Amino acid sequence: MLNFTSYNKGTKTILNFFKKIFQATDEQALVPQGEVKIYTRDEHNVSRSQISENALKVLYRLKKSGFQAYLVGGCVRDLLLGQEPKDFDVVTDASPEQVKSTFRNCRLIGRRFRLAHVYFGREIIEVATFRGSENLQSEHQKVHEDGRLLRDNVFGTLEEDVWRRDFTVNALYYNIEDFSIVDYTGGMQDHADSLLKLIGDPQTRYREDPVRMMRAIRFAAKLGFKMDPETEQPIAELANLLGGIPAARLFDEILKLFLNGQAQQTFELLRHYDVFAVLFPATDQCLATQEHEFPRLFLAKALENSDKRIADGKTVTSYFLMAAFLWEPLQMRIKEKLAADENETAAYQDAANEVLAQQVKITAIPKRITQSMREVWFMQPRFLRRKGVRPYRLLTHPRFRAAYDFLLLRAETGGAEAELAEWWTRFHQADEAEQKRMTRPTRNNKKKRNSRRTGKQKQRQN
Ligand code: ATP
Ligand code: MG
Repeated sequence: MLNFTSYNKGTKTILNFFKKIFQATDEQALVPQGEVKIYTRDEHNVSRSQISENALKVLYRLKKSGFQAYLVGGCVRDLLLGQEPKDFDVVTDASPEQVKSTFRNCRLIGRRFRLAHVYFGREIIEVATFRGSENLQSEHQKVHEDGRLLRDNVFGTLEEDVWRRDFTVNALYYNIEDFSIVDYTGGMQDHADSLLKLIGDPQTRYREDPVRMMRAIRFAAKLGFKMDPETEQPIAELANLLGGIPAARLFDEILKLFLNGQAQQTFELLRHYDVFAVLFPATDQCLATQEHEFPRLFLAKALENSDKRIADGKTVTSYFLMAAFLWEPLQMRIKEKLAADENETAAYQDAANEVLAQQVKITAIPKRITQSMREVWFMQPRFLRRKGVRPYRLLTHPRFRAAYDFLLLRAETGGAEAELAEWWTRFHQADEAEQKRMTRPTRNNKKKRNSRRTGKQKQRQN
């Protein structure tokens, strides 16, 4: 590791940085205090062979054009763990317009903060300009009365950019200039200690952006890191602030929480820190009543299966998970409606409308997903009808596989008859003759159908 005096390239900016600290007023509480540590290429295990070729192209091109360029955030954190990053984020001192004119395949996006996306087929490399740290009340940075940052669009330097990031392990910069890692916040040590530590005062940082609480839980589960006590302590108390986050953003974050391969652990942590109740109040209420074990077992199993599928490289659908989360609240409402003499179809439909209407206010589940959730739900009672043509109709339904998996899950955890699930397993694998035999109406059934028909005929006659 070099100390900052022997680090020539950044010396000027580092001096500026210290000048700023000494000039800082109380209002500039966000201006950081910290000593930079530079980990040279032989002092860390990030190698270029692990970095996406496209990210390297972007970094080199920026460098060649005379700009600074670093990898930052989750990709550096994951590379240090020897894991394959989900995506590669680049930061630079080039303005978004300068980035755009450097790359042909580039588009500028974002209202709150302008970003450049550089396209390489299906891979997108996100290039952000360093963000600055102005006074909280400046015209560029608007704060809501509850402390939330509403607008935050000042460009700055690397030294300023650092303090805007959430966790120390997310604030490590891999410098394409000399392949070193720049660390202002002690992130390398925390990384080595498997510690998740929020940068700055946790209360303030959570109030600025309550989604950081969800991110803390997600990273703790995904990385297997322990939360620093000060990072952990305010979460339960501040969890309610998540209620003020736009529903569309919360839905995106929920997908990230549960599609990261550690959904089961994430669920436990969300409940432990009282965050789950804010995100899924109706489900939480069902879990809290503890009338029976089923909802808890069912959800745990759904998440366990989903993690297993991800580990096996299979796909996971968000509608299946969402259908599982809201299954118990749906059941409660259906029961109420059946008790009030609604017929089964109407009870299912009304209950689904109500449960979804309440949930989309908190997490904006897109229509195509709610539609599939409904299909999975509505097929559950249809699985009970095993005679005649009805089972064949279910087999050809585009959501059959998901609905059948859902049924298996219910049966495994005591929410449906095991015999029913076994029947469907046999039926969808059986040959034509066997299927015919399985669905042949029994005598009783025939009688019932006849008597029903007679009933209808009678009605018609009347
Ligand atoms: P992953 O991509 O694996 O989910 P990540 O840490 O890269 O994790 P991103 O959402 O891609 O997460 O964000 C990239 C980086 O931007 C983060 O590592 C962090 O430095 C910063 N960042 C993202 N969201 C926030 C936030 N809400 N507050 C502060 N910094 C953030
Ligand atoms: Mg990322």
